[in-house]
Amino acid sequence: MKSVTAVINHQALIANLDKIKSLVPNSKIVAVVKANAYGHGLINVAQNIEPKVDAFAVARLPEAMELRSAGITKPVILLEGFLNAEDVIVIAEQGFYTAVHDQEQIDAIESAPINKPINAWLKIDIGMHRLGAGKDEVSKMKQRLESSNKIVQPIGLISHLSVADTPSQSDYNQEQIDYFFSIAKDFTGDLCLANSAGIISWPQARTDYVRPGIIMYGISPYADKTGEDLGLTPVMTLKSSLIAIRKIKKGARVGYGAAWTAPEDTTLGIVAAGYGDGYPRSMPNGSPVLINGRLVPTAGHVCMDMLFVDLGADAKDKIGDEVILWGEGLPVEHIANLCNTIPYELVCRIMPRVNLEIH
Ligand SMILES: *Cc1c(COP(=O)(O)O)cnc(C)c1O
Repeated sequence: MKSVTAVINHQALIANLDKIKSLVPNSKIVAVVKANAYGHGLINVAQNIEPKVDAFAVARLPEAMELRSAGITKPVILLEGFLNAEDVIVIAEQGFYTAVHDQEQIDAIESAPINKPINAWLKIDIGMHRLGAGKDEVSKMKQRLESSNKIVQPIGLISHLSVADTPSQSDYNQEQIDYFFSIAKDFTGDLCLANSAGIISWPQARTDYVRPGIIMYGISPYADKTGEDLGLTPVMTLKSSLIAIRKIKKGARVGYGAAWTAPEDTTLGIVAAGYGDGYPRSMPNGSPVLINGRLVPTAGHVCMDMLFVDLGADAKDKIGDEVILWGEGLPVEHIANLCNTIPYELVCRIMPRVNLEIH
């Protein structure tokens, strides 16, 4: 009998990429594989999609190194730039592309003992106010990068939309796109703007390079839509097994804190999945799991290694039966809504002890 397993459907991944390419036939695809490919397994995802994409993007240098160690040869972009001056040497040696978001990073590149120039994308702040050159710094940073012999010319321009997934903020999104292009008109290098929501909702944001993350995994970036609504196929199905079944009486108080009381005589199922696997403890009573083709409500607090489900008085389910926690037939977007988070967080939070099964 299987404990928690994240089944990764590689055909779905490829189908989603084909769908993305049909939306942006003139853009190069930077596959965003940070955070262990959103919990889907960095190396197996990267190896599988390498022929279909033009580059990879990660957040941190060790993630980029992991890709190289696994034999990935396509360009790897560091979206956050680098955190330490020593990293510049590794970036030059490995030929990584890096975002450059502040003057200190330019200082570090200028003073690094490297004899191979670095591929840099100037990162500008267009409205998120997280990373990137502010309005008063853009031309200075551009000029410094363009006059450096430690930088490959021409430099690229990169930024990130903060409300591309929020229709009620479409004016603010348009403002960000307009500002990006007002800066871009003075660049001859590559432009890189759209994330998943930008690719889907904002054709003007489909620049030379686009950076799909969540939609590659078949998940919607919008709070009110599922991946399937967007013509995508979920890549991850998280499943486990029923490991115990017991009859309980009306009034039985179940689990830690007795957070659920049986309203009637019923059959309780114990599922081998808990917050130690990445299934959120904050899931409320009555959240759905899928067992033998029907939705079954959870009961009581989620434990570290197990959770309870109310199978119903006449349940015929057996020990060992499969339990789907999210994925095929049970969109992760619905599960995320129920515990007040976004599906990005749920898939990223898959714990190391969960088996990855590649199909
Ligand atoms: C994570 C990330 C992305 C991908 O975003 P999705 O919404 O998953 O498509 C793109 N660009 C940057 C800078 C990111 O940090």
